[in-house]
Amino acid sequence: MLRDEDRIYTNLYGFEDFRLDAARKRGDWDGTKDILARGRDTIIEQMKESGMRGRGGAGFSTGLKWSFMPKKVDGPVYLVINADEGEPGTCKDREILRHDPHKLIEGCLIAGFAIGATACYIYIRGEFYHEASNVQVAIDEAYASGLIGKNACGSGYDYDVYLHKGAGAYICGEETALIESIEGKKGQPRNKPPFPANAGLYSRPTTVNNVESIAGVPTILRRGPAWFAGLGRPKNAGTKLFCISGHVNKPCNVEEEMGIPLKELIERHAGGVRGGWDNLLAIIPGGSSVPVMPKSVCDTVLMDFDSLREVGSGLGTAAVIVMDKSTDIVKAIARLSKFYMHESCGQCTPCREGTGWLARVMDRMVRGQARLDEIDMLYDVTKQIEGRTICALGDAAAWPVQGLIRHFRPEMEARIAAYRQSIAAE
Ligand code: NAD
Ligand code: SF4
Repeated sequence: MLRDEDRIYTNLYGFEDFRLDAARKRGDWDGTKDILARGRDTIIEQMKESGMRGRGGAGFSTGLKWSFMPKKVDGPVYLVINADEGEPGTCKDREILRHDPHKLIEGCLIAGFAIGATACYIYIRGEFYHEASNVQVAIDEAYASGLIGKNACGSGYDYDVYLHKGAGAYICGEETALIESIEGKKGQPRNKPPFPANAGLYSRPTTVNNVESIAGVPTILRRGPAWFAGLGRPKNAGTKLFCISGHVNKPCNVEEEMGIPLKELIERHAGGVRGGWDNLLAIIPGGSSVPVMPKSVCDTVLMDFDSLREVGSGLGTAAVIVMDKSTDIVKAIARLSKFYMHESCGQCTPCREGTGWLARVMDRMVRGQARLDEIDMLYDVTKQIEGRTICALGDAAAWPVQGLIRHFRPEMEARIAAYRQSIAAE
């Protein structure tokens, strides 16, 4: 279990003030100038040593991503913070934006300095009205205190931070769609490569990082990379915010060590599964974009990138969606298919056509009005989408359906059989 002294987010539930004075008492903005004085290369090296993997869902090494930025470049360079948290079940960045915005702003300064950025844009989802208000207050306080802006923290480095509000499209959480949206265009993902480090915002070198990844940076660099690397498991270092929702007695956000057993996470922090662990049917462990896992897998799996990948799922955003035996699992996954159909931007055929196809067949599966051989066809369609699209939304639509077929095929078959019997009985 994570010790209190190893927590990064000491104001996770907002018991203390989010404003600058209180944030400083919690240790934020302490010695920031000294951290900057270590220099760009050392900061990037230390982030690599810490083992921090991106907390937006993909788990890409944060230090490595920073190292892709060109060392010498004329003209603007940008850091973009992805605060467009829209993954179903996910509400962790929201808590940082609400209760700990100074951790994020300080992280923006250090990360921006490390990649040679001239400015930072925080892209916040439009629905986060109060969160945007708190972040803007924190930005204003940081400017007024000389922490950002000209000669930030007395370091000689000039750095501006802007807050940009999104307008409610899930796809704008994809980093290149987000960049298009800041540029005032329709939020549609770009083909990669080029990756943003080569051609990002306004075609300039850009790094896009998630809120939780950047808000953790100041603490990691203050306490040292070895401290962070010593938490969690090899290649899955540090602490992580988990969002536990669904059929648990006490839904919550909690910071825990990476690699904590899923069962322990739920029992220790969320008051256990409604009706007890034996009443568990399935869990989606990382937001709606990763495959569902049956109870037999949940019994033993560890909550980190590699352990969850080994069992055919993923850590994603670490949004743990718990479903007890009262859940209609076919209907639950069908609802996700409808979500992805609605959110597809429509620019590539496998996703545009495939998500609609999945949603329509899943709808018939819910009613039992599909043919048995359509289960295999459904799986086949997910395989035609997976890996063949511009962005990860196509995979995200395919994987929940694959997980359903892999683990709950008998439920789908039974539903079709029951419908046939009801017709025959008429
Ligand atoms: P990705 O693996 O394509 O990229 C991850 C990051 O690494 C990106 O910043 C990318 O630019 C960088 N990168 C990867 N390979 C690179 C290379 N060769 N050179 C340079 N940079 C490289 O994943 P993604 O599409 O950014 O994210 C997918 C994940 O997002 C899903 O797993 C899902 O869990 C998550 N997600 C999160 C939310 C949310 O609300 N936080 C919403 C939807 C999806
Ligand atoms: Fe748009 Fe879907 Fe293609 Fe992504 S995969 S670019 S959401 S059509």
